[in-house]
Amino acid sequence: MTILTSPMSGVRLTFYGVRGSTPCDAARYERYGGNTSCVALEAPGHDPVIFDLGTGLREYGDIVTEQFRAELEGNRLATPYRSTVLLTHLHWDHIMGLPFFTPAFRPDAVIDVYGPRQEGGSLLEVFTGVMSPPYFPITPVQLGGTVTFRDVGEDDFAINGSKVRARWVRHTDPTLGYRIELEGTSVAYLSDHGPGCAPDDSDDFIPKGVLELCDGADVLMHDAQHTSLEYETKRHFGHSTIEYAVHVAQEAGVRHLVLFHHCPTHGDDAVDEMLERARDLASRGSGSLEVSAAAEGHVLPVVPR
Ligand SMILES: [Zn+2]
Ligand SMILES: [Zn+2]
Repeated sequence: MTILTSPMSGVRLTFYGVRGSTPCDAARYERYGGNTSCVALEAPGHDPVIFDLGTGLREYGDIVTEQFRAELEGNRLATPYRSTVLLTHLHWDHIMGLPFFTPAFRPDAVIDVYGPRQEGGSLLEVFTGVMSPPYFPITPVQLGGTVTFRDVGEDDFAINGSKVRARWVRHTDPTLGYRIELEGTSVAYLSDHGPGCAPDDSDDFIPKGVLELCDGADVLMHDAQHTSLEYETKRHFGHSTIEYAVHVAQEAGVRHLVLFHHCPTHGDDAVDEMLERARDLASRGSGSLEVSAAAEGHVLPVVPR
């Protein structure tokens, strides 16, 4: 992955992992990337906000650690590491990066992980259930830094100078979507979301909570895993078609839709075709919806209206 570096000005999103379901590596994933969900939202004067802990988190951690080393080698006081994680759900592709996130091992690290409330215990207890021997040699509390898990449902809360909205979205296990408002911009993140998990809903129905997350957002990162043909046999997977992603973006008055959570069966050329189809659909709507496909390493400035 090549992270495009640019002077830090304004609000920006950096895509470290854009793949759904499982990490994959082959020549056909070269342009869009094979790491799973992880996106950083950064702005001067604010601690970073990280959407999901997929395998893309490892690369982000290496960049942070490199900056830390440079500060120490320059005999400067290293800046303590603080960040907020907005975790959508506990499927493997959204949590596998945490044990490989090197900043979390620093004693000065303070990481707040907001994630979906669970029925089987606190978020920390349930997360520890999959990150502990024999599944993994260490637990979250053994990472070294202060990693705090915060249970979230349909909540609105403030973090670090920004407003966050969390709403349940339709997926195969308890899953949240998020909206964050920061420095006059609004960003929505619905990585795993599909109408097929609610069989009584029509395929074009948009729940109120989804509209509350996406309403007029400057950028919406939305599940776009399937073509409409694939969806016919995979609707119970809990993911969306590109048609549904465009529909949500148009109904909510979004400015820029980023197709996200690319299916591992889709190589770069297939994602290109889906993007072309989504742009064609968007151009037929009444608004001026911009559409792109999330690509690992891409930096997207978020500009207020
Ligand atoms: Zn996923
Ligand atoms: Zn999932």
